[in-house]
Amino acid sequence: MAILVLGGAGYIGSHTVYELIAAGRDVVVVDNLVTGFQAAVHAKARFYQVDIRDRKAIDQVFEREKIEGVIHFAAFSQVGESMTNPLKYYDNNLAGTTVLLQSMVAHGVDKIVFSSTAAAYGEPERIPIQESDRTVPTSCYGETKLAMEKMMRWTGLAHPMHYVALRYFNACGAHTSGEIGEAHDPETHLIPLILQVPLGKREKISIFGEDYPTKDGTCVRDYIHVSDLAQAHILALDYLMDGGESDVFNLGNGVGFTVKEVIDVARGVTGHPIPAEICPRRAGDPAQLVASSEKAKAVLGWKPEYNRLETIVASAWNWHKAHPNGFGT
Ligand code: UDP
Repeated sequence: MAILVLGGAGYIGSHTVYELIAAGRDVVVVDNLVTGFQAAVHAKARFYQVDIRDRKAIDQVFEREKIEGVIHFAAFSQVGESMTNPLKYYDNNLAGTTVLLQSMVAHGVDKIVFSSTAAAYGEPERIPIQESDRTVPTSCYGETKLAMEKMMRWTGLAHPMHYVALRYFNACGAHTSGEIGEAHDPETHLIPLILQVPLGKREKISIFGEDYPTKDGTCVRDYIHVSDLAQAHILALDYLMDGGESDVFNLGNGVGFTVKEVIDVARGVTGHPIPAEICPRRAGDPAQLVASSEKAKAVLGWKPEYNRLETIVASAWNWHKAHPNGFGT
């Protein structure tokens, strides 16, 4: 029996496929390669270039392969783009998930682990954020991810379907093998953008806002290594296989770093002065997002390994130095 990973050529999906293969699992990857890279797909996974909205092609995958569980990463994930092109997000994220769930129900596959996001909370009511806290997304991206969670909940009430939604905080870092890492086009995330300065691809890093109510005025985020996220998906799948109930879990380190602190860590790791410039706030950025991941630790037995930001940034630097053009090199 195999695990089907949708979006397995993307950043978090490809790292999860690597961990599944390392754990001896049989893996099938579906990805339309719009934002993912074929080079990121592990050589031992069976790969289908299929769009998640294509019901016939998705049905064929379920017919050809013996699938016991699904891990679903196939979604657009840029907050800014979701605000200027919301229908693109509704189409891929919601229409795509509808097709996937229809096909799973039709083929009797009843377990799904799903990548959700801290953006489902919007402006937090307290720090650290707990799963039971208010969910009022401030972006269309967060809204579609929350709607995907709800779609699974209602489907599970009508059909034999069990799901785990994993709400990630700030995914970062790269696989220890150096073979895969973060590659977005355009890049919008803080750590890869900072590292573009020592790579000579950017003169300085912009700091979006210095007037937040935080210790140095810059935004606080909870940075979690992508391989720790990957492990959580495997634990969540095992939890469902063992008969666990549908549930939602936060995944973060539980420690917040300001933008300035992240830049300082990157200066230490790279030995480059990394000039920074204060810019206006970016629309929709909450001042602080820090997770309580106690539930994932207690229920899933999750133990994040990479709890030092230096180690996380060093793993990202290792990848970007060796692949300055991402999977294009
Ligand atoms: N950020 C920044 N400069 C950049 C990119 C990001 O100051 O060039 C800040 C951003 O405002 C946020 C934090 O870095 O407070 C993390 O942003 P990122 O886009 O990496 O992740 P997000 O928190 O939006 O998921």
